[in-house]
Amino acid sequence: VPELPEVEIFTRNLARWAGGQTLSRLEVVDPRIWGAPCRPEELEGREVIGAYRRAKYTVLDLGSWALVLHYRMTGKPVLDDGDVRRKVRLRLWFSEGTRVLFDDARCLGQAWILQCANVDSFLDARGLGPDAWPGRRDGAWWAARFNGVRAPIKAALLDQKRVAGVGNIGASEACYRAALDPRRPASSLTLAEWTAVAEGVLGWVDDTLAHELGDEIHFVTAGGEGCFRVYGRAGEPCPRCARVVERFVQRGRSTFWCPRCQGSR
Ligand SMILES: [Zn+2]
Repeated sequence: VPELPEVEIFTRNLARWAGGQTLSRLEVVDPRIWGAPCRPEELEGREVIGAYRRAKYTVLDLGSWALVLHYRMTGKPVLDDGDVRRKVRLRLWFSEGTRVLFDDARCLGQAWILQCANVDSFLDARGLGPDAWPGRRDGAWWAARFNGVRAPIKAALLDQKRVAGVGNIGASEACYRAALDPRRPASSLTLAEWTAVAEGVLGWVDDTLAHELGDEIHFVTAGGEGCFRVYGRAGEPCPRCARVVERFVQRGRSTFWCPRCQGSR
């Protein structure tokens, strides 16, 4: 499942591949991708202004219209390399010959065509709060977003209405970096602890971005390639104190942590 850093990279790649070109053709290989009825030909012949990410969505800005992509489990934009194993749902043809696919093995991704003026309200209506990254370094901002939340901090961080973009991996990694017990009620955190959470989230995003740059990234869950400190590492030594990392299930989701250096106070 892509998390914020991967969606950021998807979006940067799309901007890099398509920037300055015109979308000459939008080929709909699997019409089930549309989240609402739309007219794909509306986008054809329009120049790409840019692409930006909000939460786990990419918005391809084509002037007055936009293509909004949501990757869900396995969706990703890739350059068309002719690989027949890909599960292609959309193919975007650009004026200088670039072809980009929406590749999606499990076909759960979705796309929408919206007028640019409606994109923000569309995403607001999907329950997305302000983005976790970039720039959210202020512990007081985080404390205010989670004011009065009694849920455990690790579970609370997954609530996209409070702060958008932190997924199950990022929440475990941020608690670990902040040396916080993931079971602590969010409402019990001090300002200094919220500052540590902010640094933990931003550090996790920055480190993952640095680790994953490339034309086709691999989902962080698929490879386990070493950019996680605790996620997926149950039974391995904690990088900080060498105690064994443990896993437990918290509100139906895996949480990984070090019971020694994230011990409760
Ligand atoms: Zn430890």
